[in-house]
Amino acid sequence: VSSIHRLPSLRLSIRTASTVVRAMASHVVGYPRIGPKRELKFALESFWDGKSTADDLQKVATDLRASIWKQMADAGIKFIPSNTFSYYDQVLDTATMLGAVPSRYGWNGGEIGFDTYFSMARGNASVPAMEMTKWFDTNYHYIVPELSPEDKFTYASHKAVNEYKEAKALGVETIPVLVGPVSFLLLSKPAKGVEKSFSLLSLVGKILPIYKEVVSELKAAGATWIQFDEPTLVKDLDTHQLQAFAHAYSELESVLSGLNVLIETYFADVPAEAYKTLTSLKGVSGYGFDLVRGTQTLDLIKGKFPSGKYLFAGVVDGRNIWSNDLQASLNTLEALQNVVGKENIVVSTSCSLLHTAVDLVNETKLDDEIKLWLAFAAQKVVEVNALAKALSGHKDEAYFSANAAAQASRKSSPRVTNEAVQKAAAALKSSDHRRATNVSVRLDAQQKKLNLPKLPTTTIGSFPQTMDLRRVRREFKAKKISEEVYVSSIKEEINKVVQLQEELDIDVLVHGEPERNDMVEYFGEQLSGFAFTVNGWVQSYGSRCVKPPIIYGDVSRPKPMTVFWSTMAQSMTKRPMKGMLTGPVTILNWSFVRNDQPRFETCYQIALAIKDEVEDLEKAGITVIQIDEAALREGLPLRKSEENFYLNWAVHSFRITNCGVQDTTQIHTHMCYSNFNDIIHSIIDMDADVITIENSRSDEKLLSVFREGVKYGAGIGPGVYDIHSPRIPSTDEIADRINKMLAVLESNILWVNPDCGLKTRKYTEVKPALLNMVDAAKLLRSQL
Ligand code: GLN
Ligand code: ZN
Repeated sequence: VSSIHRLPSLRLSIRTASTVVRAMASHVVGYPRIGPKRELKFALESFWDGKSTADDLQKVATDLRASIWKQMADAGIKFIPSNTFSYYDQVLDTATMLGAVPSRYGWNGGEIGFDTYFSMARGNASVPAMEMTKWFDTNYHYIVPELSPEDKFTYASHKAVNEYKEAKALGVETIPVLVGPVSFLLLSKPAKGVEKSFSLLSLVGKILPIYKEVVSELKAAGATWIQFDEPTLVKDLDTHQLQAFAHAYSELESVLSGLNVLIETYFADVPAEAYKTLTSLKGVSGYGFDLVRGTQTLDLIKGKFPSGKYLFAGVVDGRNIWSNDLQASLNTLEALQNVVGKENIVVSTSCSLLHTAVDLVNETKLDDEIKLWLAFAAQKVVEVNALAKALSGHKDEAYFSANAAAQASRKSSPRVTNEAVQKAAAALKSSDHRRATNVSVRLDAQQKKLNLPKLPTTTIGSFPQTMDLRRVRREFKAKKISEEVYVSSIKEEINKVVQLQEELDIDVLVHGEPERNDMVEYFGEQLSGFAFTVNGWVQSYGSRCVKPPIIYGDVSRPKPMTVFWSTMAQSMTKRPMKGMLTGPVTILNWSFVRNDQPRFETCYQIALAIKDEVEDLEKAGITVIQIDEAALREGLPLRKSEENFYLNWAVHSFRITNCGVQDTTQIHTHMCYSNFNDIIHSIIDMDADVITIENSRSDEKLLSVFREGVKYGAGIGPGVYDIHSPRIPSTDEIADRINKMLAVLESNILWVNPDCGLKTRKYTEVKPALLNMVDAAKLLRSQL
């Protein structure tokens, strides 16, 4: 029997025994807000478009919160979080709680409403949005607070207290969650114009009074527990930063008295020093740890845990979609229980469930066997409680044995294991893979064949994706149009894109990627070992969600994936047509990855599949092949000590894909985000012939690395204009930027290209922008 099918009866039995269940020590760090069918996304976007009112939006949000609380209460969770809902982002919520609103948003005090809040998040007609950046190593992005020494803070959003009361009114006692004061400061940045020497932590004394007000109000409203999320404790912190934690919580001690305080950490091990600081904080009753990613923390706990304190043991993975191996978790919990005591252990999730999909119940198209192996947020809540019950001697044998059967089926399923792939990937590990000759020799050989002008022009891959195009793909998928009709529509589109590029006089062409919905999904759908959900959405930022593929088995490529389209496109022009592939690291980093083997192993498997594709493209006469590694940087671990290990296997995987091609085949790669100075040596080690990189925000930052003397001998195309904006750059402006690059880079390695793919732009923007780009390249060629 599938564990999913068992859910309704399980819920029922818990409801009837609610007095017993209330005693179970179970906790959930946080829950997705977007809704099982992205209800919040649609409500937000409709409100932003002026199609619905603030009341409408609030109604959707209230209903979502109520259903989440009810669901956790029904499941028997004891520590149910509140204030983990957000209209946009929890760090932005914290900034508004503190009244940390940059002056350009014209806020005049008082409770912060939607106007100011969404202006900060998204900008408005006259002011741009605040910066957004990655939340640790997840795909979630938070709004970066801007702080300066003159800032005055005031209690300007009562959201935490309001949500606590809202749950209480529904009969649900919750544990209110706040981003902790030290993490808040460490995740902020100095406002523009503030001196570099300014220490964000120096503001701690100014924000604590607001935290105190919030805590007092929560206490007055009846809260008995409060959770401070302090995930920065898993990063590399210096003594000064660690002292800030000790200082902040001892300052809060008096207001916290009479309350139970949980400090929650997640995403990695807590380093030994930080663990010491954390476990000696004053006024704290419990500590939450990620025990999925934090295996060393496990040892620290076993070594020493403060007596009488609660351990919130995060054994249910919030970062993935796999169902928990309940027996294994129970063993871990029992071992920990022996250390911290029976009364002091609380079963929890490894982090907020924000980073997993919402509810498996809505997966109507997933294969039944695979579905057995999965647990989304709603199912993880049930797992947490089942573990808590089992730990206290009320093991649901049927639930556990259904789970054990599912684990066993996953281990032994022939769909997971492919011996040949395992063997081939294992053979890669110990050896290195590089092209036979040095990049400068290769570039010469390629130039003889390609005969490109200096400052060659190209684009990154995709061309505008029109409504028509999306419709054609949708209809083909739904089998509403025949393959013949589909192929001829796509062919027509490619032809249009090729002709446009020839008219514009671009040197190295692309086919425009009209057949692709998404650069990872397109390949995943054609590789073995991948599954796709219909509602497995995960919030990326604000109302934006992504639907990562699920890599469940050994990856292989049953047949060529892009050769048909690439050769068709090449046949339409005499100019070189780039074959266009997504690299293994990017496919890995943008998927839910299997947890039964190390990530690098899965990456090597994908690399082998892409290698086959590269070689097939070469055989088919494609002379330039681009292998995008847009997300290489995203996989960087949180701690410096682990960076090299990751970069080594990631870069190795990339090289595997193209180590077998001839010197005359030119390998390009593309990376998003200009922020690559710190990993420049790894990028050089990728040994691509040409790299194009996003560079929209700052030439200075990117170029400084070369100015500082890094030797770069391969082709390089820092984006010459920002494709994220509808603005059309002038020829002069682009020429100016190329000139700046020429001051640092040799003219024989510089390429001229936009920042990233053109898929989100309109033709009315793309045509004039590319025309100006080519003009600028020609202008500068004539001056060389
Ligand atoms: N080739 C892809 C495109 O042009 C690259 C996208 C990306 O870097 N995110 O769309
Ligand atoms: Zn890009």
